Amino acid sequence: MSATRIDGKAFAARLRERVGEYAARFAEAAGRRAGLAVVLVGDDAASQVYVGAKNKATLAANMASFEHRLPADTSAAALLALVERLNNDDNVDGILVQLPLPDHIDEQSIIAAISPEKDVDGFHVINAGRLSVGQSGFVPCTPLGCMMLLTDRLGDLSGLEAVVIGRSNIVGKPMAQLLLDANATVTIAHSRTKDLAAVVRRADIVVAAVGRPEMIRKDWLKDGATVIDVGINRLPPEPGQDKGKLVGDVAFDEASEVAAAITPVPGGVGPMTIAVLLRNTLVAAHRNAGLDVPD
Ligand code: NDP
Repeated sequence: MSATRIDGKAFAARLRERVGEYAARFAEAAGRRAGLAVVLVGDDAASQVYVGAKNKATLAANMASFEHRLPADTSAAALLALVERLNNDDNVDGILVQLPLPDHIDEQSIIAAISPEKDVDGFHVINAGRLSVGQSGFVPCTPLGCMMLLTDRLGDLSGLEAVVIGRSNIVGKPMAQLLLDANATVTIAHSRTKDLAAVVRRADIVVAAVGRPEMIRKDWLKDGATVIDVGINRLPPEPGQDKGKLVGDVAFDEASEVAAAITPVPGGVGPMTIAVLLRNTLVAAHRNAGLDVPD
């Protein structure tokens, strides 16, 4: 068997386009553009790239982008004051504080200060709580993007066996919650799981969010499984190259011989994250403006 390649890049492009259309309609109805504020503290190279990409995508989707780049020695108090200002700014619908923050700032206290109604990353405990009790709130972008790819591919997930590998607050746990809400039978595996290969072999749906290059091999997978690879890992460079290749947590080529469908890395889950961030910001804008949220 040769697996279908799940094209997250194309799916994300369609989602961004749809969000852009609705954002233009929102701007007409509300008399202002939906706004996303992104806060970056310090000069982490990867974070700089993410923040630049978010800014570009926000503008392309007919939304306003407010970028706040602060020096690495910014105090927690100054960052909290900025978050408070953004909470009270009617032109800002979504607030994203780029993680990781410098060591001297406690991430949880900053996330806790963001208004849950503007927490478009879905990291605030109120939104995590809403997800766990089935109330509508904001769901973290990466797992929501995975869920969109899964339902697009499989339709109804009721009764399917799903194994999520990884239990972080931003990917693994919300992913498991979303699968549970969709009536899958869910197992969450992690670094202490015994005989992980045997656990994964039960799964109709495998979501890998570990951060270990090509850990999941062909013989771990059930025939016909659908595989969503969240991992982004850079291999050491080959001789003569300055950058190593990007790979996922799944050994893509060999897994493709067994799986029915699989996301590539890059071009799978990665592009979904920003597209869902824009979608969440548009939802926030409609709620903040008292308008009906489009489907
Ligand atoms: P974390 O490091 O927070 O979590 C990793 C999880 O993997 C932990 O729960 C850990 O278990 C588990 N784990 C580690 N080693 C093993 C092992 N040998 N066997 C089984 N489980 C293991 O990572 P994140 O959730 O933040 O991210 C996971 C991956 O997804 C990373 O590669 C990251 O780059 C990528 N990512 C991609 C995004 C995107 O596509 N846009 C967005 C976010 C993340 P334990 O809890 O026991 O330590």
